[in-house]
Amino acid sequence: MSTDTDNNDIVEDHQTKDNEYEDICYLCHRTERTAGKMFKLPNGISICSDCMHKTMDTMSQMDYQNILKDISISQTPLQSPQEKTDAEEEKPAEETKGKEQDNMNFTRIPNISFLNLSDLQNMMGNPNRQKIKKKKEQAEGEKAEPVIDIRNIVQPHKIKEHLDEYIIGQEYAKKVISVAIYNHYKRVASETLKDFPFEERLRDVEIQKSNMLMIGPTGCGKTYLVKTLAKLLDVPLAIADATSLTEAGYIGDDIESVLSKLLAAADNDVDRAEQGIIFIDEIDKLAKKKDTHSRDVSGESVQQGLLKLLEGSEVEVPVGASSKNAMVPTTTIDTKNILFICGGAFPDLDEVIKQRLRKKTSIGFDAELKDALDKKKDILKEVTVEDIKKFGMIPEFVGRLPVIFTLEGLTKEMLVEILREPKDAILKQYQKLLAMDEVQLEFEDAALEAIAEKAMEKETGARALRAIIEQFMLDIMYEIPKDDSIGRVTITRDYIMGTGGPVIDLRGGSMSFHERDALKAIPQSAGM
Ligand code: ADP
Repeated sequence: MSTDTDNNDIVEDHQTKDNEYEDICYLCHRTERTAGKMFKLPNGISICSDCMHKTMDTMSQMDYQNILKDISISQTPLQSPQEKTDAEEEKPAEETKGKEQDNMNFTRIPNISFLNLSDLQNMMGNPNRQKIKKKKEQAEGEKAEPVIDIRNIVQPHKIKEHLDEYIIGQEYAKKVISVAIYNHYKRVASETLKDFPFEERLRDVEIQKSNMLMIGPTGCGKTYLVKTLAKLLDVPLAIADATSLTEAGYIGDDIESVLSKLLAAADNDVDRAEQGIIFIDEIDKLAKKKDTHSRDVSGESVQQGLLKLLEGSEVEVPVGASSKNAMVPTTTIDTKNILFICGGAFPDLDEVIKQRLRKKTSIGFDAELKDALDKKKDILKEVTVEDIKKFGMIPEFVGRLPVIFTLEGLTKEMLVEILREPKDAILKQYQKLLAMDEVQLEFEDAALEAIAEKAMEKETGARALRAIIEQFMLDIMYEIPKDDSIGRVTITRDYIMGTGGPVIDLRGGSMSFHERDALKAIPQSAGM
């Protein structure tokens, strides 16, 4: 039963949470710390006293007579004079007069822009969405607390062990990423390690940022790898799609929006965001377009725009929105400790590599060599910075991603393992769901292979697995709960291939699929 005390707790909880956030002036975007106490308006809007006074002054100097004259002359802003329909023109003056009165509310007063109502709605959904978390007050003489403690950084072998529980194969990638992450956080910690007994010659050495470039076919686990990592490290993670980014001022998200996402993932806590990870997917789509004379606002110029973020600089970032505009408060984020991981499938990069390898060897053996190269399976592993530049990435961009590694395409055996082995494998998820109905779910090995074969045909890596399983598990999940006597369902290869049904075991004894009325509804095939 809910009581008054419960309600009071909730209100107090909201208030303490509110106290952790700073108000930002909605007009000049300064924070409470710089602009002083704010006037609180309804809907969580705050205005600093400077802006409030300025507004009052402007209002008092306004020439209302002229404005009102303007309004009565002008038509509704939703409709320009040219758009006035013929019918309306013919209407008597009395009729249109009432309409004008109605439209007055919407009329734009010169020099004053109204609040954007959609922004207000966003703010009401989450009043703290556009507020920044307050920095902790530091007492005088108190040392800044290191955000990352060198003793608490997880060692590479432990990171890899954790990744092994979730990610099948990709041994090389897991190893590289574990070491790079370890080095990255050591670098972050080293900045606060003033007392560490480094040798004299090492004291002033600056460690380079270990931003990464991951190359691998679609659905091989690039995003999954980064997500698993961020969860382990308990750092905020933002996943952005390079294709949605455009140069500022064009339709699409500003480049800084990747930082806004990170800030949102860190609960608008700037300190936490500054230690986070940003994963930019589909980075290969930013490659320079060949033979184009038009301005490339979503490719090369986005690479240019990303340079300063990758390197580390102080960037002004819109809070709670994907582009800067007059209504959006901004804050400054320093990207020097943010780890950037870029990923992409880089189609046809293998051709670029082959071309280079072919050129290197002497002419004459060309045909043989071509054959050998074509047969070579893991050609992507031979990738060099030169190849990536040739693909269309600008040299400055590649230069800021010093850790480059590749992921392998998934084989049939790996797909079977992905179905069965990871900690939250798809099969385990279905088994858990059916276990709640006290039904055991089994898969024949041959059935798993059949699923993997179907997934291979789709050429979208492990992504196809879930779609395939969902398709034929639908009937099972629908029909089984109808019949209490069912104790176990075994998925067979025949069921997957559409030539038979699953084997159903009753709690008392076994039966075949066809014998039970309730199960007649399960089609013999999954309809694929
Ligand atoms: P991409 O490489 O295109 O970013 P994802 O990481 O999004 O692919 O993979 C899609 C899904 O496939 C993941 O959510 C994960 O469940 C599964 N998956 C892909 N690769 C692996 C892998 N190597 N081990 C385990 N699961 C994987």
